[in-house]
Amino acid sequence: MTTLRRGECPGVTHPLPTGDGWLARLVPFAPIALADIAALCKASLAHGNGMLEITQRGNLQVRGLSAASAPRFAALVQTLNLPADTRVPLLTSPLLGLDADEVLDGCALFDELRAAVGRCAAIADIHPKVSVIFDGGGALRLDEVAADVRINLISANSVEIRLAGNALTSWPLGYVAPGDLTSTVIAVLSAIAAHGAHARARDLNGAGPLRHTLASVLHPATPRNLTPARNPIGQHRLKDGLLALGLAFPFGQIHARDLLGLARRADHEGASALRPTAGKVCLVVGLTEVALPRFRAFAASSNLITDAADPRRYVTCCAGAPACSAASVSTRDWAPRITQAAHHLLDGSIHMHLSGCAKGCGQPSAAALGFVGPHGVLVQDQAAGLTTGTASVEQFANGIAHLDTLSRARFLGENSADLLARMGAVNVLATLGAQA
Ligand code: SF4
Repeated sequence: MTTLRRGECPGVTHPLPTGDGWLARLVPFAPIALADIAALCKASLAHGNGMLEITQRGNLQVRGLSAASAPRFAALVQTLNLPADTRVPLLTSPLLGLDADEVLDGCALFDELRAAVGRCAAIADIHPKVSVIFDGGGALRLDEVAADVRINLISANSVEIRLAGNALTSWPLGYVAPGDLTSTVIAVLSAIAAHGAHARARDLNGAGPLRHTLASVLHPATPRNLTPARNPIGQHRLKDGLLALGLAFPFGQIHARDLLGLARRADHEGASALRPTAGKVCLVVGLTEVALPRFRAFAASSNLITDAADPRRYVTCCAGAPACSAASVSTRDWAPRITQAAHHLLDGSIHMHLSGCAKGCGQPSAAALGFVGPHGVLVQDQAAGLTTGTASVEQFANGIAHLDTLSRARFLGENSADLLARMGAVNVLATLGAQA
């Protein structure tokens, strides 16, 4: 078993050392059966510290493994044959093949692509962060997730391929017939790999040269209307008449005991699987119209997020004290208090992160406000970049309450990101009671 340095991509057989032990990551491409979720929870309790999380990209992470327990955890996971890959991360839209709004069932196409990626020698040394998104065109999508290659099923005759970015920032390469998709994507990945072990799609110098190489299969790229994807928190109709319910874990993490309880209740209510997906969301798949409200009430009473506007969606924290020996602050104790104090501020336009130390495990790069134990305060905006100050966690919590009061008097149409930008990072730091 090999371990990684920070910035590299952890997997199950190559975990990443972090402050609260080794971290193993699974990249699911389909729903995970409830029995396998239960087995993962038990493995997390037996070999890790019991903390599990779903990342912004929809990966499932198991925390707190050790040098001795990580190989045992990996061996156990490999016996489960989970729908998860680590070689070239292949991310699929949350309900691929199940979503009632999909233009066609892309599962067979995805399986063909996945098999071809697995056996392609030309991409054996491709950078481990090169990723592919396969979007079935349903109501739930991965528009905000960046990838090197984006595949969008448009119709039974046409698949769009885009490069290097999220749905808005990526470059259109062109359209191919479904039958040409696998060979085209393999050609794109091979071109990236040919640029060197550190190359990404952005290093291809635009889509022009590739368009020339692939001219015989590409149709011209034309502008498309991007309708907003549906919020994954809430209820979604499936092709078979059943439903999926999207929920989230407070502050991005859940204890394996609680996830085990959730999986058992989902099984009791007739659901079949859980699907970790982008935005730190967990979809419960296969509920009936009758069972869904009951299950949603159970999840809400279990302190899980069932309302898309819940401010806890916009706050993350690391394991903190006492789980992590490096932590100077009990981040998970402070997170509910600070979130409550920031009820108006956390309107979805900004994100806040609490870290027990400067290592910043799990810190989203886009966090507008942050506390870093023992007494660091971070304010980040597009204009000024990162501005730092110092305050105790008590001062930070009081300062957030003060900022929240100010945010209630913002201009008409102004959100919290606009407000912080108008105030400027130095004034925000002063409002938070932090020393610059
Ligand atoms: S205190 Fe938090 S950020 Fe620091 S090492 Fe521990 S888990 Fe990571």
